[in-house]
Amino acid sequence: MNVYVMVDMEGVSGICRVSQVMQGQPDYDKSRKYITWDVNSCVKGCFDGGAKRVLVRDAHCTGFNLLWDELDPRAEYIQGDSGTERMPGLDSFDGMILLGYHAMAGTSSAVLEHTMSSAGWQHFWLNGAKAGEIAIDAGIAGDHNVPVIMVSGDDKACAEARRLLRGVVTAEVKKGLSREGAILLAKDKAHMLIAECAAAAVRNFGNVKPLRIRRPVKMRLELVSKSKVPGERDNLKVINGRTYEVTGPDVEKALKLL
Ligand SMILES: [Zn+2]
Repeated sequence: MNVYVMVDMEGVSGICRVSQVMQGQPDYDKSRKYITWDVNSCVKGCFDGGAKRVLVRDAHCTGFNLLWDELDPRAEYIQGDSGTERMPGLDSFDGMILLGYHAMAGTSSAVLEHTMSSAGWQHFWLNGAKAGEIAIDAGIAGDHNVPVIMVSGDDKACAEARRLLRGVVTAEVKKGLSREGAILLAKDKAHMLIAECAAAAVRNFGNVKPLRIRRPVKMRLELVSKSKVPGERDNLKVINGRTYEVTGPDVEKALKLL
């Protein structure tokens, strides 16, 4: 089978503070090693589990986080601006891993919880249910008939994934204590866990179904600041001074309307 790995940074092992995930901050350079190590552990696990092809998309912020010259040579990598699609080339893959993911905005004691933008997005609903990036990306994958087979992150992200995705394998690399604090697994233990979970997820792939998001897809967004709500237009309804709703034919198209 072919595995598509989306990798974010907030749920990477060893990371629990904002300064670790923001380019230009003192702790960020070291975090590039941490995300690269998690990716290499995941790639190893995928091939151990029998994967034929692995593609990794660096999806945090500008997409320039992985240390290219230290990556496992067996996989392929997407870095930088991915163009018009959030997950280019997805249709030739059978399963997806969400690596280093985080809980939705507003989750208590969850490491670096947010949905898409800490500064911009207060709350987000997908077809009426509170949702975060795990649901959004699993929904986009589902629209392409690709199931999410594994999620790694803190205990809250893993619980969110299990509530949403039946049969998903979760790799809990830390327990959130607050937005910027966690009980961290030691480095080698975290990497071993990720590799073992990825291998198990690849072997278990036939038991997981793609997430089906009902169409048309309604997305409601409450912004952090007032007066940023766009004007009403086709497919966009203003709910109140901070909140609006869009309706699109699938998850990715609805997301683009926000
Ligand atoms: Zn991120």
